[in-house]
Amino acid sequence: RPITGAAEFMYQNITFIPLTSVTGEVEYIGVVINDVTDIAMSRQDLEAANLELEHLSRSDRLTRLNNRGYFEECLQQEFRRLKRTHGPGALVMIDIDHFKKVNDTYGHPAGDEVIRQTSDRLRETMRNTDIAGRYGGEEFVAILVDTAADGAQIFAERLRSVVAAQTVRHDQHEIRYTISLGVAEMQERIESPKQWIECADRALYEAKHGGRNRVELHRFPVGV
Ligand code: GH3
Ligand code: MG
Ligand code: MG
Repeated sequence: RPITGAAEFMYQNITFIPLTSVTGEVEYIGVVINDVTDIAMSRQDLEAANLELEHLSRSDRLTRLNNRGYFEECLQQEFRRLKRTHGPGALVMIDIDHFKKVNDTYGHPAGDEVIRQTSDRLRETMRNTDIAGRYGGEEFVAILVDTAADGAQIFAERLRSVVAAQTVRHDQHEIRYTISLGVAEMQERIESPKQWIECADRALYEAKHGGRNRVELHRFPVGV
């Protein structure tokens, strides 16, 4: 039993000391037991705190999605993996439509709630092996692992329609809004994570210019 109430059992450091008689034989064993429960407990607390810190340094405060820095690390890793395996993968960039209007009409806290709700819909729509991040103010990005263009478009379309159908309630206001999405499938000719992002970004730009509240797939110009 521990002396402290902090642990269910005592953590011990034990030393066994052979005690030799005058004839040189070991006749007794001395056993010294130290209660090191306090040290063990504080070490566990430290490990838990470090884990928590690591988690905090990787995630975005408002949405609890991966922050941009950590997302970019994940993207780099997934990119390298795909270059090795030549398997399918897709990147989706998401931007809230006319978000400035949400802030201007309902206020910044309402805008924050819209961002939070959007991240929740994203989390609910993706698989738990997919990797999502908050890329900028009201921009999100997701790596769809082992997913080709058709699957990624289905995902993006589902997320688009879920967001378009919901109503966010904040301070008696009922807020409706939409998102635009750009999808870029991984391809051999994409040479860096940065280029992959640019492809998704270009598709997102097309979605915006095509009228918003829509999904566009990135296509390389024919013959290039
Ligand atoms: P578009 O349809 O072209 O995307 O129009 P938009 O109004 O959404 O334009 P844009 O993407 O440039 O808007 C970004 C705005 O998001 C500007 C900034 O004030 C706001 N914003 C950025 N981060 C936050 C945040 O954390 N909370 C809130 N409430 N607003 C933010
Ligand atoms: Mg934006
Ligand atoms: Mg926007």
